[in-house]
Amino acid sequence: MKQLLLATRNAHKTEEIVAMLEGCFKVADLSSFPDAPEVEETGVTFGENSTLKAVAISKVSKSLVLADDSGLEVDALQGSPGVYSARFAGPDADDPANNQKLLTELTGVPMEQRTARFRCVMVVARSGVVLGEFEGSVEGRILEESRGAGGFGYDPLFVPEGHVQSFAELGPGIKNGLSHRARAMKEVAEWLRLTD
Ligand code: IMP
Repeated sequence: MKQLLLATRNAHKTEEIVAMLEGCFKVADLSSFPDAPEVEETGVTFGENSTLKAVAISKVSKSLVLADDSGLEVDALQGSPGVYSARFAGPDADDPANNQKLLTELTGVPMEQRTARFRCVMVVARSGVVLGEFEGSVEGRILEESRGAGGFGYDPLFVPEGHVQSFAELGPGIKNGLSHRARAMKEVAEWLRLTD
């Protein structure tokens, strides 16, 4: 079976990607490589950060490496938090702190102006060379309060277009069918099956 190393320590991302690949690839992430370098996300776009991670990790592993960089763009905040989604409320911020900051920044913004999207850019690399870049996004709206206990990050605040429940309420079965990561991963999976 083909092997794929995910350049992430985020167990939630790994879980989602493994579910999307449906057992077609042997997938590992950086939890199996404690000595892998910590890659600083100094880029200003998702593509730059994803490339930084894929290139750095593929230099220290023989595997094909897949990096994902993703985040939330909120129109009323001019695209913020974007690449700073994980650090929106500060360098060591956790999900509840980031969600609270988002709600505070959107205080008084009516529902029709709370449009947003999750975006994801995935980069595949081997031996320090980028082989492909793939993108996915999902449009939606930001709620006025958190709803649901599933998922991670901004999931309790994000309602995807065409639904009334948040990603956290919809659960992995539905989220993994329409999320930004699912859409990027579909492109990656097609490309992986065509290349060898
Ligand atoms: P990254 O690890 O630098 O890609 O940071 C991604 C950050 O964006 C996460 O910490 C979350 O705050 C947010 N994010 C990305 N994808 C999702 C998702 O599927 N649901 C909720 N939040 C997400």
